[in-house]
Amino acid sequence: MARSRAVLGVGVIAAVGAGGMATAHEDPPGLAGAGDKVKSVPDKIGGFFGGDADKNTTTMITAAPLTSAGLMIGSSSDVLAAGESVDGEPGDALRSRILRQAENQDALAEAEQRDAVINAAIASASSDAAAYAEEERLEEQERKRAEEERKRKEEEERKKKEEEERLAKLRASFTAPLSGYTLSAYYGQSGGMWSSGYHTGLDFQAPSGTPIKNIHSGTVTQAAWAGSYGYQVIVKLDNGTELSYSHMSSMSVVAGQQVTTGDLLGNVGSTGNSSGPHLHLEVRPGGGSAVDPLSWLRGNGISI
Ligand SMILES: [Zn+2]
Repeated sequence: MARSRAVLGVGVIAAVGAGGMATAHEDPPGLAGAGDKVKSVPDKIGGFFGGDADKNTTTMITAAPLTSAGLMIGSSSDVLAAGESVDGEPGDALRSRILRQAENQDALAEAEQRDAVINAAIASASSDAAAYAEEERLEEQERKRAEEERKRKEEEERKKKEEEERLAKLRASFTAPLSGYTLSAYYGQSGGMWSSGYHTGLDFQAPSGTPIKNIHSGTVTQAAWAGSYGYQVIVKLDNGTELSYSHMSSMSVVAGQQVTTGDLLGNVGSTGNSSGPHLHLEVRPGGGSAVDPLSWLRGNGISI
């Protein structure tokens, strides 16, 4: 090993000397200060490069200026090639060193390439993960939206059903026509004041203007002046029974109107053939003859 370093060193020094440069890369042991050895360089060089040593040396130097890099790779390659023809050992050492460098560079390049591939894979995986997460988020959002929509519809259905039930109950129910009253004349009472000779309805005495409520759901078939009945509203129930409200001071509905239990029909008055403010109520099943309103109302659950 010492020999090859020395020989290489001689080659380098020779090259530096001839080229007039001072960039000797190696400092072979035992060479510094050994004038006689330096003087013997041409002989060594001659042996080193073969028969035309002087020519080869000159050519090598002018062709490859000695920089640090040039000395190691460019020039050394020339030396290596020449060296092999004489003695394999120095060339082999240099070759293996260069090969190691090249291998190192290859290994470095491979590592860099491998890192790049790994980084790309990581970036790709990361990107995929982000896309997957976004997809998950959107799906979750859609699930929540659908769930909220389902709940909203359920609530809507529930409210609708409740309202229908409330209205159904109301339609099925009955109410007294006035909140406060005094029964002043009953059905069937005889007397000259009634054209038919007897009272065909039930009289609810109350102050003028007292609200008159619809007793049961139906359709307004008349809301008009009716002679001795004064202002009169007639409501026809679904079963065909007609209820008439007479002597009103004012009317709140019109013919053809649908009315539900409790709706305001008008106000107590004394219009027509009347001795004072009161509601004259008549009940005519199927639109025929009048029946006793009191028993009819009680028959429908109204406390009178
Ligand atoms: Zn009456």
